[in-house]
Amino acid sequence: MKPRARSLLLAASAGAACFVGACSPDEAPRPRPARVILLSCDTLRSDRLGFGGYGRDTSPNLDALARRAVVFDAAYASAPMTQPALSSLMTGRLPADVGAVPGNRVLLPGEVETLAEILAAEGYATAAVVSNWILRRRADAPDVGVSQGFQHFDDEMPDREGNRGMYQRDARATTDAALAWLASRPSERFFLWVHYQDPHGPYEPPAAYLEQFLREPPADEAGLPVRERGAVLGPGQIPLYQVLGDERRPSVYADRYDAEVRYFDAELGRLLEALEAEGLIEDALLVFTADHGEALGEHDLWFCHGESLHRGVVQVPLIVSAPAGLPLPARAAADGTRRVDALAGHVDLLPTVLDALDLRPRPTRGVSLLTPELPAERTLVSDLVAADGRPSWSSIQDARFRLVWSELEPTPQLFDVRADPGEREDLAARHPERVRALAQQHAQLTAQRLGDGPQGHAMRVSEQDAQALDALGYSSGDEDE
Ligand SMILES: [Zn+2]
Repeated sequence: MKPRARSLLLAASAGAACFVGACSPDEAPRPRPARVILLSCDTLRSDRLGFGGYGRDTSPNLDALARRAVVFDAAYASAPMTQPALSSLMTGRLPADVGAVPGNRVLLPGEVETLAEILAAEGYATAAVVSNWILRRRADAPDVGVSQGFQHFDDEMPDREGNRGMYQRDARATTDAALAWLASRPSERFFLWVHYQDPHGPYEPPAAYLEQFLREPPADEAGLPVRERGAVLGPGQIPLYQVLGDERRPSVYADRYDAEVRYFDAELGRLLEALEAEGLIEDALLVFTADHGEALGEHDLWFCHGESLHRGVVQVPLIVSAPAGLPLPARAAADGTRRVDALAGHVDLLPTVLDALDLRPRPTRGVSLLTPELPAERTLVSDLVAADGRPSWSSIQDARFRLVWSELEPTPQLFDVRADPGEREDLAARHPERVRALAQQHAQLTAQRLGDGPQGHAMRVSEQDAQALDALGYSSGDEDE
């Protein structure tokens, strides 16, 4: 029996009154969050943030949030692309479980239950503000994808991206849209999701942030070649959608990425300040994460994320803030933050919310993070089920090792992510038993889908999209969202 269930029985037998959550006679009642707030950012690496150990001041507002909440240092997305990653986050299952594969253009089918649908059915007002084009609600199929269950779904994207025929909304307008909904919110009991887009390429932050972060490149820095039109892969190259004018030096792009992060952080800070001023954080379950990371030169992959499965594209920042009295498995770190070393994943979000709100558990690959101790023997799967001429990748990890392989490199490589976060040294030959065990677990975990194995909804590329992408030399699938 789960400890909480036992507590409830004890409480009932003792005749104690427990109006909020479960409790026993000698325990304080477990508080139930008044609302759920999910803040996320596209393409955001945890190691480019102050609380993630970065030396540049990219994230003062997230760092402040981290200091008052709990940081999960080993948190991972289920996929390194927007659509499958967020489909997993919203369902607590793997992308393949819920039909959100392959690639980025197959959407969650309508029959899959999402977190927003669950909370809407429980009477929560549900609202989303998203600023990545790939997440927009489709007029021809409004009941599929991650927009399911959101009564208010703001996907207004007025800005045309520099290199693609796609639209987005910058951080300032994203925060404004979230504040506008908050100003007219129909209830204090709500689920709000805000998804920022800015660190996604092309890296074009406002000039003031560029000034702050652009440094003089090394005099002898060599430029990288630009990927050829129509090519979807290529180590040592800058993807076409990232290219900015004649600039080819990677350090400039990396600085521009930092400037994007800082700009996003400033606008997130404005939203957090407003939430705080209205007293909406303290009694909320608030989660901050990214959909996936970005390759910044590791394994000679530059400024892309849907092409490999190394740590930098799947490790994500994860901060959780819960009302006082809800248990989180944190230790006090030397810098004053509360940290969790144990593995956590996007698949944990849904079970965490259901646990916090005392709602019926759903089938999930995850665990509730509201626990004094997370399972030590846990493994997490992140896969890239690719399309459009790209190879598929697979990975599984435990608390120390990541095992990674692909169609191109089918011999698994084993990395000690704690000692070697850049995944430079393949330890497979030194730990064959670990390789075997992890490979077996991956096979077992992915052999069966969790659920009914629904077919995803293949997104049709509109005529306008297709023409714009063709004109720019892209195939319709050549997107790295
Ligand atoms: Zn993304």
